[in-house]
Amino acid sequence: MNCNTIKDLVPSYVDGICSEETIELVDDHIQHCKTCQDYLNMIQQQPVYVQEIPEKVEKAVKPFKKINRKRYMQVVSAIAITFMITVIGGFVIQDVGAVNQIFFPMKSAVINTEEDMKEWEPLKFNDQNYLIFKSIFWKKKITNYANNYGDVLLRVKDSSGNIVIDEVQVPNGKSVELTGLKRNEQYFFEIKSPPGQFLINAT
Ligand SMILES: [Zn+2]
Repeated sequence: MNCNTIKDLVPSYVDGICSEETIELVDDHIQHCKTCQDYLNMIQQQPVYVQEIPEKVEKAVKPFKKINRKRYMQVVSAIAITFMITVIGGFVIQDVGAVNQIFFPMKSAVINTEEDMKEWEPLKFNDQNYLIFKSIFWKKKITNYANNYGDVLLRVKDSSGNIVIDEVQVPNGKSVELTGLKRNEQYFFEIKSPPGQFLINAT
């Protein structure tokens, strides 16, 4: 094997990327060739091979930097989302009454009578003489509170004055579901009650 071939092989020999056969060839050769041994020593001592290492490390580090940036964005988004949820949650809690009116709609009527009602009396829910079931969350239930003074009778008329529900008894402490009432229609409630104070809730 001539010196030029050995010199060609020396860089990969130094890098440790050649086959064992080549390593043996180079080793054998430099044992009896001072020129090539010197050349090998020179290559091995050349700082250029050392300088290459930081470059390789830098290349290896770059993907990690990208991951870190991605991770950073994830953390920033998480903080932003948490902040938004907190703010929206704050508004919801501030306005819990309004939210309750949507999801748990309820209107109340109070009747105060000293004698047994012989005639139907209009029932005013929240000072309104009619009720409209606007949201889908209305259960269309009428509750006669347990601390009231007895059972009551109810009937319901539509906006034309037609009776749509006739004489339903709502026992003391019980609820009655008014089936057949539609959404977004005006309904007028009338009551007959024994003497006393009555809290009637529509939910
Ligand atoms: Zn040689």
